[in-house]
Amino acid sequence: MDLQEVIVEIREKNGLSQEEMANKLFVTRQAVSRWEHGETYPTIETLKAISKTFEVDIATLLGLQETPICQSCAMPIQNIDDFGTNADDTVTTEYCSHCYKGGSFTHNRTVEEMIESNLRFLDAFNAENGTAYSEEEARSIFKAHLLTLKRWQNRA
Ligand SMILES: [Zn+2]
Repeated sequence: MDLQEVIVEIREKNGLSQEEMANKLFVTRQAVSRWEHGETYPTIETLKAISKTFEVDIATLLGLQETPICQSCAMPIQNIDDFGTNADDTVTTEYCSHCYKGGSFTHNRTVEEMIESNLRFLDAFNAENGTAYSEEEARSIFKAHLLTLKRWQNRA
């Protein structure tokens, strides 16, 4: 189910007209209508409002089956504030907010620099995954993993 269907479902479940939903979210009825027709997407601020007002978690709202992985730094994107944003302030499920904001990358790191930056979290990574990678092992594992991500494909 994608966002437009989720919005219709939330509205109908709550027995609201487009107008009533719009009033709750401080947007126009036309905005709700456009979302439901997939013509536009709510901005990140509006998504937060929908999530809070109707107690729907962000993954459900975005129709995500699983936690997306940032296609630049490999971080799992779990909270609404972790999602990167497009130029029109809608969210992207491809990149995290640390890598991608307002439609462009926030940094111009190379794969090697990304690996070094990820290595700073090696202790946390090892703790989380129950591994004991040395820096050198981690470097090659991170590299192999990063090269599977969209931003780094064809860049090896
Ligand atoms: Zn990222």
